[in-house]
Amino acid sequence: MFETIIIGAGFAGAVIAERLATQLNQKVLIIEKRNHTGGNCYDYRDDNGIIVHKYGPHLFHTDNQEVWKYLSCYTEWEVYHHEVLAYIDGKKVPIPFNLNTIYEVFPVALAMRIEEKLLTAYEYNTKVPILELKKSTDTDLQYLADFVYEKIFLHYTAKQWGMKPEEMDSAVTARVPIFVGRDNRYFNERYQGVPKHGYTKMFQQLLNHPNIKLMLNTEFQEVMRFDGDKILFLDKEFNGKVVFTGMIDELFGCQFGELPYRSVDMRVETIERNNYQEAATINYPNNYEFTRITEFKQIHFTKSDRTTILKEYPEPYRRGENTPYYPIFTEENKAGYNKYVDYAKRYANLILLGRLAEYRYYDMDDIVEMALKIYKGAAA
Ligand code: UDP
Repeated sequence: MFETIIIGAGFAGAVIAERLATQLNQKVLIIEKRNHTGGNCYDYRDDNGIIVHKYGPHLFHTDNQEVWKYLSCYTEWEVYHHEVLAYIDGKKVPIPFNLNTIYEVFPVALAMRIEEKLLTAYEYNTKVPILELKKSTDTDLQYLADFVYEKIFLHYTAKQWGMKPEEMDSAVTARVPIFVGRDNRYFNERYQGVPKHGYTKMFQQLLNHPNIKLMLNTEFQEVMRFDGDKILFLDKEFNGKVVFTGMIDELFGCQFGELPYRSVDMRVETIERNNYQEAATINYPNNYEFTRITEFKQIHFTKSDRTTILKEYPEPYRRGENTPYYPIFTEENKAGYNKYVDYAKRYANLILLGRLAEYRYYDMDDIVEMALKIYKGAAA
């Protein structure tokens, strides 16, 4: 009946489903445990007409023209360039920490010296990860590195991950580098925006095809079994392709141990005033229990006398209770993950894709790119 079964209706699952259904005329079944599609990109309009990203702010940014064009078939975009301020020493200053930030936090003579030294050491408009800058031997750059490390990264990372920056894969803190330039935007990719009518609408469009059937509110274990080297669907051997986008340890009953993930308690509040804060997102690296506050009407511009904000409180992932947002990227955990990948090789028709299945800190565009690549492999 179905040629491909996909577990999970987030970006990975939805893009593969759309490609197989529309390009190869395959019949595809998607099994999704939540009561909605879109994975963690899911959004909704609240009582004030404001689009809220239920699972945290999702800002689309990519340099990949193919990815951008592909999604543009399913949504119009609101041009949107995200800017973030960080609350440090009683001031809200732009991050990624850049040349503008330097002039806001240091006396002008020191700021000028640091700027000159940065421009001698690095090209203008380049990114320097904090753990890289910390290796600098120049005393002024060393001072800058210690300042940024302490004020921006150390305590935020402790809240977000329960770890020090250097205990994690360096790629994690490198996502928010020191920027040797004057661009205050959080991302500097060529294409940036949010779907004009929200992500949920875009996913509805992606999946709106007679070849795609969707089972919501269904755990994959209710209808599928991974047995020896066979995959069973409703107790019958299934020989089509299976694309799994969920947590890889759960796919195999956590037999090699539970992989750790990090969760966040996302607390939405309605505020009885027109505007709440100076930027769409403000990070609080050193104060409070939350890491950041996002005000949604600054992302999807909406007229309303009220405003809706989201405070993010990081917390450990508790299986079955909260959401596994992030894989925790350490050498030890990657070794645990590799055991599952080796085990998965016995299923010739199984494909693992996405943040949870590949245990990788993917951005949305990375997942779309991977999904398109896998589709092309299947079509070849
Ligand atoms: N980070 C930080 N301070 C900040 C912003 C980011 O220490 O003000 C570090 C932190 O470890 C975080 C990582 O950089 O987990 C990546 O940040 P990003 O904003 O990309 O995280 P996401 O939006 O994916 O949660």
